[in-house]
Amino acid sequence: MSLGEFEVIRRYFSPLNLARADVTLGIGDDAALCRPPPGMEVAVAVDSLVAGVHFPAHTSPRDVGHKALAVNLSDLAAMGAEPAWLTLALTLPEVEESWLAEFSRGLGELAARYQMSLIGGDTTRGPLCISVQVMGLLPEGRGLTRNGARPGDAIYLTGTVGDAGLGLRQALGHSRLKPATRDYLLGRLHRPTPRIAEGLALRGVASAAIDVSDGLLADLGHLLEAGNLGARLDLARLPLSAELRAEVSEQDAWELALAAGDDYELCFTVSPETAAFPADISCQCIGRIEDRPGIRCYHGGREWLPTRRGYEHYT
Ligand code: ADP
Ligand code: MG
Repeated sequence: MSLGEFEVIRRYFSPLNLARADVTLGIGDDAALCRPPPGMEVAVAVDSLVAGVHFPAHTSPRDVGHKALAVNLSDLAAMGAEPAWLTLALTLPEVEESWLAEFSRGLGELAARYQMSLIGGDTTRGPLCISVQVMGLLPEGRGLTRNGARPGDAIYLTGTVGDAGLGLRQALGHSRLKPATRDYLLGRLHRPTPRIAEGLALRGVASAAIDVSDGLLADLGHLLEAGNLGARLDLARLPLSAELRAEVSEQDAWELALAAGDDYELCFTVSPETAAFPADISCQCIGRIEDRPGIRCYHGGREWLPTRRGYEHYT
């Protein structure tokens, strides 16, 4: 490596080690030391991005830095946790300073938005892979989980779904989008917005929650498996962006919305007895939890069968 490992850490990662009252020791020792405030528990999640698997190899390093953190923050959002600390395990084929500068900028900008501190990590040589681990704080016992939905609960989605799927077709050269919609859809793919504020507002409101990373059918399926439940979805109510609608047929839009993944929206359920629904959450009711296992999609009273169910590794 042209620049030594420690110089890489000092230049590009130590500046992201923001001071926080709950970090007693950050980057530089054998381990970091953190002290969650009394009465709080720690939510921990880790996700890896492998070049060519989770992002096209030519993706801009700034976007890779953003996305590596955003996909993890999405998991904290789905738990209703407040972001606090992160660690970074970075495997690089070579030290390319322009790449590192842009990568740490993308990662640092998103971390700073939540006053998160990068408290440690590991830097090694090999095929490009980025593992980010995030830790968030929650008042004890107040975490949102996949468990807890009941028949009759309404199913909601934040934001819109399907955009990242169409963005991926464009990024892989399988689609030719109009310039007006291309930037929006590629932005949804490369720079997803973690729904942290929504997750915090849903504490004590949602009966269950999950983030949509592998596709709505797959992720809602995980939420349903937890209680051996099923769901009825109304396709006319799927939140689809104007940009997506402008580019593909209605049925293709449904396929993308249901199975393409990479949207990082929250899917959550609310019991009919829950009165206090937070007014500041932008979300859409898309269906209802039912007793009978399986997800059934309806349009105008008729059942509609999607061709794909979601993204899975090893299948
Ligand atoms: P050790 O040999 O004790 O595991 P390292 O030499 O791997 O320590 O790392 C030195 C310090 O730099 C540690 O505090 C580690 O957490 C931190 N560090 C290493 N790589 C990164 C990185 N990519 N981002 C943030 N901190 C890092
Ligand atoms: Mg180490």
